[in-house]
Amino acid sequence: MAEERVAEERDETEERKPEETRPGSERIQLPSRGFRYEGRLPDGYVMVAPMTTREEALLVSMGGDRLDLLNRVLDACLLTRAVPLTEFLSGDRLFLLLSVRQITYGSSYHVQFPCPTCRGSISLSLDIPKDLSVRVLTEEDDEPFEVKLPVSGHTLGLRLLRVSDEAAILRYASRKAPALGGPNLGYLYTMARYIVTIDGQEVDSIKALRLVEGLVGKDSLAIRQTIETHDCGPDFTIETACNQCMAQVREVLPLTVEFFRPKPESTS
Ligand SMILES: [Zn+2]
Repeated sequence: MAEERVAEERDETEERKPEETRPGSERIQLPSRGFRYEGRLPDGYVMVAPMTTREEALLVSMGGDRLDLLNRVLDACLLTRAVPLTEFLSGDRLFLLLSVRQITYGSSYHVQFPCPTCRGSISLSLDIPKDLSVRVLTEEDDEPFEVKLPVSGHTLGLRLLRVSDEAAILRYASRKAPALGGPNLGYLYTMARYIVTIDGQEVDSIKALRLVEGLVGKDSLAIRQTIETHDCGPDFTIETACNQCMAQVREVLPLTVEFFRPKPESTS
């Protein structure tokens, strides 16, 4: 099954026309600013094409894993081929996702979600990606980032996640489906994938996982904070006020059906 899919993907790559432009394509600047790609994407600029009906058809396809489908769509819209999508930083991938949406349907995105205080409906019209804050990388964000864990005393070298890590995390979590009420293995394994060295020694993710499993909360918090300080990409947190109870609301922007299938009147 996995082999079949690889063969399919290869066919798609061969079909790909070499030119870096298609009607409606736009040049965007990735939040990494190209810093993690050894000069292959100067300043992080890539050409992005709008989705065609073929990619829309992939999105509405019922079978297969959602992340894989979405990545195939992004890969088809990514015209600059200097860095394969699997090597993209997760933050760049998220920004690419927003850009493909904007280039294909326009930037207006309408969301509705319940107010956590009064349960009334909050509806927002956003300009995507402009209304989201985006952290960009600088030269100072050089990998690995060191963190000394406050309780265990270990010094860890950390790196940012790539698209290939996200796929590995999903595979790991689904292979080892936890018993009901068991630990979230995806969460543990995500923490492990950040770690490249323990006290100066290079480790693989299995060794890192063994360390992560035993860490106390203060130590894992230190890891997450260090990653957050150095990570790049759009922040999906939105702040608004509820029209009915006036409460300040902080929510993670939901990506609803309308994100990739906007109603005709909501395009701009
Ligand atoms: Zn409210």
